[in-house]
Amino acid sequence: MLGQMQNHPLLTSMLLEFAERHHGDGEIVSRRVEGDIHRYTYRDLARRSRQLAATLDKAGLQQGDRVATLAWNGYRHLELYFGVTGSGRVVHTLNPRLHPEQLVWIINHAEDAVLCFDMTFLPLIQAVHAKCPSVKTWVALCEADKLPADSGIPQLVSYEAWIGTSTDQYVWPKFDENSAAGLCYTSGTTGNPKGALYSHRSTVLHAYGGALPDALNLSARDSMMPVVPMFHVNAWGLPYVAALTGCKVVFPGPAMDGKSIYELMEAEGVSMAAGVPTIWQMLLGHVQGNKLKFSTLNRTVIGGSACPPAMIDTFREEFGVDVLHAWGMTETSPLGSVSTLKNKHLKQPREQQLAIRVKQGRAICGVDMRIVGDDGNEQPWDGKTFGDLQVRGPWIIESYFKGETPLVTDEHGHRWFPTGDVATIDADGYMQITDRSKDVIKSGGEWISSIDIENIAMAHPAIAMAACIGMPHPKWDERPIVAVVRKPGAEVTREELLAFYEGKTAKWQIPDDVVFVDAIPLGATGKMLKTRLRELLKDYKLPTA
Ligand code: AMP
Repeated sequence: MLGQMQNHPLLTSMLLEFAERHHGDGEIVSRRVEGDIHRYTYRDLARRSRQLAATLDKAGLQQGDRVATLAWNGYRHLELYFGVTGSGRVVHTLNPRLHPEQLVWIINHAEDAVLCFDMTFLPLIQAVHAKCPSVKTWVALCEADKLPADSGIPQLVSYEAWIGTSTDQYVWPKFDENSAAGLCYTSGTTGNPKGALYSHRSTVLHAYGGALPDALNLSARDSMMPVVPMFHVNAWGLPYVAALTGCKVVFPGPAMDGKSIYELMEAEGVSMAAGVPTIWQMLLGHVQGNKLKFSTLNRTVIGGSACPPAMIDTFREEFGVDVLHAWGMTETSPLGSVSTLKNKHLKQPREQQLAIRVKQGRAICGVDMRIVGDDGNEQPWDGKTFGDLQVRGPWIIESYFKGETPLVTDEHGHRWFPTGDVATIDADGYMQITDRSKDVIKSGGEWISSIDIENIAMAHPAIAMAACIGMPHPKWDERPIVAVVRKPGAEVTREELLAFYEGKTAKWQIPDDVVFVDAIPLGATGKMLKTRLRELLKDYKLPTA
């Protein structure tokens, strides 16, 4: 027997209609590429998203056609999120930090029909456009009078001229909630990138899950700043969660330095922000260096790579800001888990609470997780036993765009996505990542977590960044070394740093060497690129080997 409730499809347009109707005057503030601050409301967002949707109809785009974006976080990018998806097309966010050849590969693989870009990226578009035959319309996200006369790009239009004459009376169509809404490629550190194709259903459910109190905990009382770029897994779904909750949104635009982010946070009363650890490193550097305080920020979501415990502690103890340590992947929309305390932890001393907060946290309802051993058997939730992390749920990937399914089937017929991460899960369900499986260091048959080694170095006051990798060793197979970047003006010797490890980890896990470097190579989403670091250190020889 079926239930007898209305069968409304879960569509992104539903989120926008809600925001317009119930939070019409809710503010959306953007620092523009032009440098000024732009303000408007959810009502304006909805009106202009409808104009964009009508424009796509006029341009003859079919359902499922891809509209690519190459843009910073801002209101026009937000309109693309809603106007493109709401009208049944697919918004494909491109990462401008990728190598141009990789961008060309992705655009051709996705067969993007339209590409909308911020003027910052005009030189990049000029370099690649001739190699992207599927793109019929190039749209510069600017006013008509800002369009360069001799760009060399055929059919280049300004976004404002493009949507300006279209009707804002467009009515959002209803269609199957399993239709594609968004496309995002993995960063492809090994091999070609792979596309994760989100559906309306997965996007809306992910937004509901993300808004939960034990996830991002957003509400209409918040002023939220997604520092995480809208080209990094849909800014972790925050634009959709924003519409669902009606929170104020503050977009940092292209100004991603500590000073600009801090000033915008203070000016717009930001209460919640989200980004990768390297961004917060910069922000903390600015705030501490200038003896500033956060007057409104009360929590920040940090994820994308492991957040050093020292950072979580500093935010809490120096600034009264709670860090929500989150884990996720392109293939998981991305939110998988967030670390928040349970009721029974509230009376625990600070150190014990910190030990929980540094983990990647508990699964959000909608994501089921488990760890398995080499034999494929599930491992115990004891907080010690490592295993390959697998997840499943309505916003987890089924198969790659034009590609294969990565899923594995267990003895109950359940299909799991193998994340490639190695983790423990404790009895309370807190998951902790020890490594990407390819970064795990095996010394004498025992595993050493590179994240643990990095976290200790990061707690040293002179260290700005640390990356731990394994080096071949004749006796132990591999031994860890730690490559570190010193904070400007700070001094620490190899011996001092190695001594700093004493008592903080088992003796055999202490790195064999410290290598001082000017910078750790970072990938397109701000994560440490250990493959590149290994290449840079290919002639390095362990002193102990
Ligand atoms: P991407 O799909 O490019 O966002 O990368 C996903 C990968 O980033 C995950 O599989 C993890 O290896 C890593 N990652 C994401 N969040 C965290 C976190 N909080 N701690 C450690 N690693 C993380």
